[in-house]
This record gives sequence, C-alpha cells and structure tokens, in this order.
Amino acid sequence: MEDTELYREILGLKAPWSVTRVRLDMQEKQVNVWAGHEEGTRWPCPDCKALLATYDHVEERTWRHLDTCHLMTLLHARTPRVECPQHGVKRVRVSWAEPSSRFTLLFECKAIDVLKEADVEGTTRILHTSWDEAWHIQEKAVTRGLAAKVETVIPRLGVDEKAIAKGHKYFTLVCDIDRGTVEYVAEDRKKASLDGYFQGLSQRQLGGIKAIAMDMHEAYIQSTLEHVPEAKEKIVFDRYHVMGHMGKAVDLVRRQENKDLIKDGDESLVKTKYLWLYAEENLPEKHRERFDQIKNLNLKTSRAWAIKECLRALWSYTYTASARKFWESWNGWAVRSKLKPVIEAARTVRDHLYNILTYCKHKITNAVAEGLNSKIQKIKQMACGFRNKEHFKTAILFHCGGLQLYPATH
Ligand SMILES: [Zn+2]
Repeated sequence: MEDTELYREILGLKAPWSVTRVRLDMQEKQVNVWAGHEEGTRWPCPDCKALLATYDHVEERTWRHLDTCHLMTLLHARTPRVECPQHGVKRVRVSWAEPSSRFTLLFECKAIDVLKEADVEGTTRILHTSWDEAWHIQEKAVTRGLAAKVETVIPRLGVDEKAIAKGHKYFTLVCDIDRGTVEYVAEDRKKASLDGYFQGLSQRQLGGIKAIAMDMHEAYIQSTLEHVPEAKEKIVFDRYHVMGHMGKAVDLVRRQENKDLIKDGDESLVKTKYLWLYAEENLPEKHRERFDQIKNLNLKTSRAWAIKECLRALWSYTYTASARKFWESWNGWAVRSKLKPVIEAARTVRDHLYNILTYCKHKITNAVAEGLNSKIQKIKQMACGFRNKEHFKTAILFHCGGLQLYPATH
C-alpha cells in the first residue's frame, strides 16, 4: 500500500478528497500529510447546499490529527471556496473538521475523552497542546452539548448552593434528581440566580415540574413560587439541610456547656464536637464506648442531641397527618427544653413545616445534588487554574451536565 493510500484510510478521507503527499519528519517527530481534491469537483454552498464549481482556494491550512505511532500528525490542505449567487463567496466545509477548528474531528473526540479523565493541565501534557487549545476544545464541547439539548420535562429538580471561593462566593446549581446531572449553573444565590433557570423553560416544562428539593433559602422559595405552577405543593425542604440546622443547635449547646464545665475543671465535653453530629447508627465503633459514657452524664448537650435524633423519625411517615402529629409532640419537647439554640432551630422547623412535610408525598432529597457537590469539589481542586468563574461553570457542565459533547464524525 502506498503511504498516500494508507493515510487516506487512516484519515478517513473520502472522494473527492485524497492524500497527495506524505512527509515523515523524524527530527520534528512529525508526519505531514497533504490532502487535495479532484479537478472539476462541485461543492455545496455551506449555507444553502447548492452545488457550485470551485471559485478559488484559501491559503493552506493545518489541522492537528491523532498521532501516528507517537508522531504528531498534521493534515494540510487548501480549502476551496465557491461563489454562491445567493450567499456570495464562501469557504466550503471540509469533512474532517468543524469550521474554524484547528483540529480534526477525531482529534477533538480524543481530546474530549482525555479531558473527561484528566484536568486541562493534564490534557496539555498528554496531548501536547497548549492550555488554551485544550480549554477551547472543552468549551466548544459544552457549547455543542448545550445546543444539542432538546426541550425535555424534568419532573424532579434539586436546587442547591455551592460555595466556590472564600469570602462567600456562591453558585446556584439546578440538578435533575433522576438523571443526576447539573442542568443549570448561575452566579450567586439570589432570587435572580434561580429566576434565570425558570425563565429559560417553556410553559410545558414549568408545568411538568412535580417536585423541587431545596434548602430553606428565602430567595429560592420566592423564585420558585413565582415561576412554578402550584409550587406550594411541590417544594420539599431538604431533610439534610433541616437536620443540619438541628446539628448546629446541638453544637451551640455543647460549646456553651463545655465552657461552663471547663471552668469547674470538667473536661467531659472536650473534643466531642463530631460525636454529637453523627446520626446514632453511623457513629464509628471506636467512639461508641466514650459516646455512651458522655451521653449518660445527664448533660444539656445530651438532651439537645436526643431531641435532634428524635426528629429524624419525621421522615419515616407516609401520611402527612401522622407526620404532623409526630412533629407536634416533638415540637413540644423541643420548646420546653430550655435550650435556646434548640428552641430557635425548632422555630425554624415550625415556620417551614408545610414544605418539610411535603416529603411524605414526594420523597425527594438533595442527596444527588450533594453527590454532585463532591464531584464539583474535585473539579475545583483540579482547577486551581480556573481563570474566571465562567471557566468554572463550563467545567461543571462538561463533567456533570450529561451533555452530548462529541462532534459528529462521518
Ligand atoms: Zn448558498
């Protein structure tokens, strides 16, 4: 087989294109391949597909292709132009690359595979590209994926905030709970942050939302009430966030009590912060003995802890009425506890009760969003190189958006 024919096969070039020349450049560790086309070929206008004769050619351009045996492989060609009566002089589409790309489609596919496994920095080392080139491929993949998205109804959504930097910078994430994908990323955690998502949906999509899990965050609540029909029945305050408030209350009680005890030389509560935050059955075995001892010391902290643990049963009810009844007796206990942080947390629960109890009907939590959070945390660590927030957003959608990232290859 001639090397021109070999490379025609390797590159997947189809008529009227063929390989006219191959040059191996060992010094540069490069294979250079030139493609040319048959005389008299007629080309479709890129806008209207009308078949037209070659008008002229642009200057030779170079595309990076997949390496051949570790040799960087470059494809060179002069792209023809046609003169369309309707659209004027236009450069024709070549089959091996997207317009204005400096890489062949196959190289872009490969780069997307690598970017999925490594960060941009790692990709540059594996594929010997510049940072900007690798980044651009990732960015284009996301743009492509977003453009290819079809309008679908997402029945169960999770809305969550994500701290992205020190100094209280946040992103708002909207997730598809069933697919486990990030559907939307916006800056801040204001009402407008979430408004942007809902405003991009059709009436059909808004109407198709059945349930939304979220934190008890006023801005999100307002945005949802404003945009989603019958939102009052669909919002479910995430149980982990609710329990988080209770956990904080226990910790506040512990901190104060610890100070008081230390004054009397009692170190019972020193270094016990995390013991009180575990759900009881999740307490690691090595802490069990110590925890059982302190728990029985009749401390304020153990009382606060018992109230917190008891509340967890709220999420085991199937019927709202029984759940409400359970809450009433729990609330009575919490309110009479004389522990200020517990009373305050109980008040938060009371004020949001309606949409805590919607859990009975919808049975959703933001646990998926939390899983995505750890994935995003990883993206953040990988990406100390993120030059701005837009880049971070793009990377989240690339890794968690469930998008069709690849260019169509022929
Ligand atoms: Zn045309």
